[in-house]
Amino acid sequence: MTKASVPIPSVDEVLRGEAGKVVVARFGHAATLGAVRAALDDLRALSRHSALPHASREDTAATIAARAAEVLEAEDAPRLRRVLNLTGTVLHTNLGRAVLAEEAVTAAAAAMRAPAALEFDLESGSRGERDDIVRGLICELTGAEDAVLVNNNASAILLVLNTLALAKESIVSRGELIEIGGSFRMPDIMARAGTRLREIGTTNRTHLRDYTDAIGPETAMLLKVHTSNYLVQGFTKEVGTNELAVLAREKNLPLVDDLGSGTLIDLAKYGLRRERTVQDALKDGADLVTFSGDKLLGGPQAGFIVGRRDLVRACAKNPIKRAVRLDKIRLAALEATLKLYRDPDRLPDRLPTLGYLTRPLDDIRAQAERVEGPLARTMGDLFDVAICDCTSQIGSGALPLETIPSAGLAMTPRAKKQSGRQLEALAGAFRRLPVPVIGHIEKGALVFDLRCLDAETLFVEQLEKLTIVRSEAEAEP
Ligand SMILES: *Cc1c(COP(=O)(O)O)cnc(C)c1O
Repeated sequence: MTKASVPIPSVDEVLRGEAGKVVVARFGHAATLGAVRAALDDLRALSRHSALPHASREDTAATIAARAAEVLEAEDAPRLRRVLNLTGTVLHTNLGRAVLAEEAVTAAAAAMRAPAALEFDLESGSRGERDDIVRGLICELTGAEDAVLVNNNASAILLVLNTLALAKESIVSRGELIEIGGSFRMPDIMARAGTRLREIGTTNRTHLRDYTDAIGPETAMLLKVHTSNYLVQGFTKEVGTNELAVLAREKNLPLVDDLGSGTLIDLAKYGLRRERTVQDALKDGADLVTFSGDKLLGGPQAGFIVGRRDLVRACAKNPIKRAVRLDKIRLAALEATLKLYRDPDRLPDRLPTLGYLTRPLDDIRAQAERVEGPLARTMGDLFDVAICDCTSQIGSGALPLETIPSAGLAMTPRAKKQSGRQLEALAGAFRRLPVPVIGHIEKGALVFDLRCLDAETLFVEQLEKLTIVRSEAEAEP
């Protein structure tokens, strides 16, 4: 065993050295001390096992300080990273769904910086209710009598079921017992809400008489659920909200319509396929409608419960409301988002979600043409780059089978050997960029759908940092 040939400096020597002082100034004494200790431990361990090249005490102290700075810098980088969503799914749940309007961002920042009259009536000086801030606006936009806001749509459903159907039965069609993203399954939420699920009909067909036959003394509500992420096609039958409303009224039972995405505007006006709106559901006779804030609405994560006043008030009074209420930051963002809906003509320019969804194909193609050259140069002789047709999706369960024609770029490995691994390596390299770029692999190519690319300069500029791909792809025989 060779003894350490490197004189190991003390913690103090590292901290007092020139390089050490710089690190302390940047990250503070406590954090630097911890990182320096860890770096010195590593050095001691290393020197026990191998002969290290000789270095002076001062140089070693500087090396240790640099190592500590590296570790602290990596720890300091945000874990919630900004990415470029080139997946083609506009409302991507794993990428945080809706991108907020500037107006919403500004309002949220203002709410964070100073005290705000969140539950305080400035007129009377007495205690107010936080949902009052947006209640008027929601009622104006949807035509509802009343509204209450919660953490997300899952909370909205939980609160509604627990308020109106605790220890009683809720009737749902078997064709509507949805699962969304694994952790949200309608039967599980119902069990946790304390209501008994009364399944009726079959997967593909449910008739009005199935509802009628199931109603008994234990029934507390009729629940209709938007089949967000699938379609039941073929020999099918479902009972519409308008038909169910007649039955619900006759039996004096509340009818709840979980819309999922919940749009406030007729998407057909913007060239998209029409999706049932919140107003439609209310007009059809739903007593309560629930929907999300960060899906088609294009706002922050939130859950809406809108409709009949007595039922909404009952939900607001449930102690669970306190556990799932909205915070001031999101309330501020939501208020600003909803205000944009007062001017539907300018909505696509101001609401990013609608802007992406209505972006003209020519515009996306022109962008693909601009970006193709720089991308092709970066790929060198490893990947062919071609402009391709894409089909974007709305995502988050709105119009599940509806696709929007789009354009993008496809990167195909030149060498056919190990092409799957080459594509994985390329996708990985894009994910490791300073602002990770997320695409999808399809038919032997890595595809970037450019519909949501509003940071074109950033995309092009950081391509030069993608050199890693070359060695990785070439390393594969
Ligand atoms: C998305 C969705 C939910 C869950 O909404 P979150 O806002 O994600 O909690 C519930 N029901 C339906 C029909 C949905 O589409």
